[in-house]
Amino acid sequence: MQGSKLNMLLSSASSARHRDGVSEGALPQIDILLAAPRGFCAGVRRAIQAVRDAIALHGPPVYVRRPIVHNLAVVRALEAEGAIFVEELDEVPPGAVTIFSAHGVAPHIAAQAAARGLVSYDAVCPLVAKVHREVERHHKDGRHVVLVGHEGHPEIEGTLGHLPNGAATLVRTAADVDALSLDEAAPTAFAVQTTYSVDEASGIVATLRRRFADLAAPSSSDICYATTNRQAAVREIAQRADAVIVAGEHFSSNARRLAEVAALHCPSVQLVADADALDWARLPASGATGITAAASTPEEIVAGILAALSARYSLRIEEVETAVETTMFKRVAVG
Ligand code: SF4
Repeated sequence: MQGSKLNMLLSSASSARHRDGVSEGALPQIDILLAAPRGFCAGVRRAIQAVRDAIALHGPPVYVRRPIVHNLAVVRALEAEGAIFVEELDEVPPGAVTIFSAHGVAPHIAAQAAARGLVSYDAVCPLVAKVHREVERHHKDGRHVVLVGHEGHPEIEGTLGHLPNGAATLVRTAADVDALSLDEAAPTAFAVQTTYSVDEASGIVATLRRRFADLAAPSSSDICYATTNRQAAVREIAQRADAVIVAGEHFSSNARRLAEVAALHCPSVQLVADADALDWARLPASGATGITAAASTPEEIVAGILAALSARYSLRIEEVETAVETTMFKRVAVG
């Protein structure tokens, strides 16, 4: 899949070396294991495109409630194109154009936008919206929902907002499930944050199945294809690497899970927003370094990391492809 991307990365690494006047032969050699898939997923691409489409149609500024995706480079790039990011809708002037982020919102946020006369577009990822529909259905069927996720994450706030207070209980660990004081015979269902750790979720779900006799499950895994594929790919490279670099933000759930999965298999893992944040002392003088990127991290960040590495090492790059992604979503209807 990523042949042309890989060429772009290699040429950016090589031009950085030439710019710095470094002869490749003089540098120590290391192996780079590039995870594939890595970086942008279909939901992130769609959300970013929605902001660009809204700016093109309505002209700037276009307001975006919360970071459209969890990456500051993306946010800064869209700001330069005319987006203004706000925390809450009361910061948006009445009548202005507003976009809701890929993480999804509770229905009362959409209602608040309508009440303020905002022109709003919802860039929620279709795979998050699927979870919203499922928890609503479970509630309608009279089931209490156990939601596996991280408290305070915007996706979780949005999903809980689709249910009345008390209709769902949030858990983060199997121990949380053990501690639940719900009726074990009552109709129950579970749902999982789309960016959760695949391995942790499977332990939590096994505990739920042990405890609840009448437990409804999602029609297909709530953990999305992009999360699943990126975690599998980073596991693969981490098993072979002396160090792993995860390109992503500390406030990105997707990025943090990648770093956690890598840390299960590799002693030196760093999660960095970009090349400037690299801790060189934690990279090996020889051997293999794995690199991956969260679903919200632009490929330019990976290119920057490779360029920085190529100024210090001669790189032998291998792309380790564990899945080929073809998922695409229909554009957000703007206009
Ligand atoms: S990580 Fe998954 S759920 Fe989140 S935007 Fe990407 S595809 Fe959608």
